[in-house]
Amino acid sequence: MTHTHADKQIVGRFAPSPTGPLHVGSLVAALGSYLLARQARGLWLLRMDDLDLPRVIPGIAEDMLATLETLGLTWDGEIVYQSRRADFYRAAADDLIARGLAYPCGCSRSEIAQLASAPHRDITVYPGTCRNGLPPGKRERALRVRVKDEEIAFEDGVMGRYGQRMAGECGDFVIHRADGFFAYHLAVVVDDAAAGVNQVVRGADLLSSTPRQIYLQRLLGQPAPAYVHLPLVTGPGRSKLSKRDNAVSLAAGRDLVRDGGALLLSALKFLGQNPPPDLTGAPAAEVLTWATVNFSLAAVPRDPAPFERPLS
Ligand SMILES: [Zn+2]
Repeated sequence: MTHTHADKQIVGRFAPSPTGPLHVGSLVAALGSYLLARQARGLWLLRMDDLDLPRVIPGIAEDMLATLETLGLTWDGEIVYQSRRADFYRAAADDLIARGLAYPCGCSRSEIAQLASAPHRDITVYPGTCRNGLPPGKRERALRVRVKDEEIAFEDGVMGRYGQRMAGECGDFVIHRADGFFAYHLAVVVDDAAAGVNQVVRGADLLSSTPRQIYLQRLLGQPAPAYVHLPLVTGPGRSKLSKRDNAVSLAAGRDLVRDGGALLLSALKFLGQNPPPDLTGAPAAEVLTWATVNFSLAAVPRDPAPFERPLS
């Protein structure tokens, strides 16, 4: 590995939502982001995306941290909790409002669903009802950011080029929700920039939200990180993954001290890696040492696949 003084230090992160136990999909994201950061001798930060407070389950965050530590996935610095950072999201939203880039929206969910054009992918395109001011009799429910008729595209480290026409495929999107919480897109953009994160490695379920985040980065004058979206984990036969069945947390009753190495080997194979047979039965630390040296991003597949769990 060659490094020059001109190299920028990689700052990666893992940002789980403590709304359910750590599952195999989160484990894959944690391992992938950890390995790409550590392989580059970079930092690996940890953030709890606990913005959606009503869905947060008490004790889950602590269980996740214990699980990561048991697997040897140790992070740098202090853990950031989104639930404590509303002031920063408010400042960013106020900045966008002051510059005419965000506006109040008084539409209800059903009003939008009725008026919206056919949804693209998983996004309902907002019809623009409140773009030029709240209609008479409407009160502010949410804040939306104004998009332009332009394509936002990026080169993903696994998925290749991905782009969206913002006006036609996305529409003006919510940055502050009707239930009073800031939207995920605004929060991650503010937090990643504040922490200096320049490499975002996460599951492909977030691929279609990335153009919205890049758009916000541009509006807020922040650099775009490199993006790597890892293939989705499915259940057997590509069925939908059941979170309960696929929990890997300590609370799920797994003996992770004994099984951690085998679980990491399964995650590496899911990511297209080819660990040597003599690592079978090795502890987690030994598997991580091998993987940090040998992990190959080029070997990671794009397609969703089931996760072959180790026998225990
Ligand atoms: Zn509206």
